Amino acid sequence: MLSILIPVFNEQDNLQSIYDRLLAVIIPLNLDYELLFNNDGSTDNSLAIIKGFESINKNVKFISFSRNFGHQIAISAGIDKCKGTKAVFIDADLQDPPELIVELLAKMEEGYNVVYAQRSNRKGERFLKKITAKWFYILLNKLTKINIPLNTGDFRIIDNKILEHLRKMPEKHKFLRGQIAWMGFKQTYITYDREARLNGQTGYTFRKMARLAIDGITSF
Ligand code: UDP
Ligand code: MG
Repeated sequence: MLSILIPVFNEQDNLQSIYDRLLAVIIPLNLDYELLFNNDGSTDNSLAIIKGFESINKNVKFISFSRNFGHQIAISAGIDKCKGTKAVFIDADLQDPPELIVELLAKMEEGYNVVYAQRSNRKGERFLKKITAKWFYILLNKLTKINIPLNTGDFRIIDNKILEHLRKMPEKHKFLRGQIAWMGFKQTYITYDREARLNGQTGYTFRKMARLAIDGITSF
């Protein structure tokens, strides 16, 4: 089974699009799948929309947090709950194109445990975000022994082995892309042009980004 993990924080205007595009990609593949939405304390209509999907599609599951815990925790809850032997992490705002899942799967078939998607271009992101992200990864790679690939978020596919090891990792402050890079096994990547967010605003405030950067550095 393929599990698709979708963290959701106030994405009411993107959910129908991501749902439609995911199904358009997955149904032709003719495999067992689950769409596991994690509502990370949204204050808009996201949860009701997700419940609507669940009521019409038995492959839709959801988790709903009591408040906003953050993107990394939302994906981690999905990792703990998902039933698949492979899992894709994908954002709900369509910055990560669902159509790329076909390529991620095909690359994995070549014998990889992890295939991540590296951005060759980032549309609609502020200069400040791009430059601070770049500095952060250069600093992280200098300070630590693990090599985290530049221009890579969490959009990726991982197999059962990686899922099992992630479930055993006890850290409370998650930095998943770092944890996975640290783990080893066979990892590779494909490249893509990152789209701008479809609707709404980023849920990653400067504060949350700084928190993630601190977690990344202190964890490693
Ligand atoms: N998200 C979340 N909790 C948060 C912030 C974001 O679950 O506290 C989700 C969000 O709905 C999206 C993904 O994580 O699916 C990436 O967030 P966002 O697009 O806001 O970040 P950016 O792409 O701007 O870095
Ligand atoms: Mg985004």
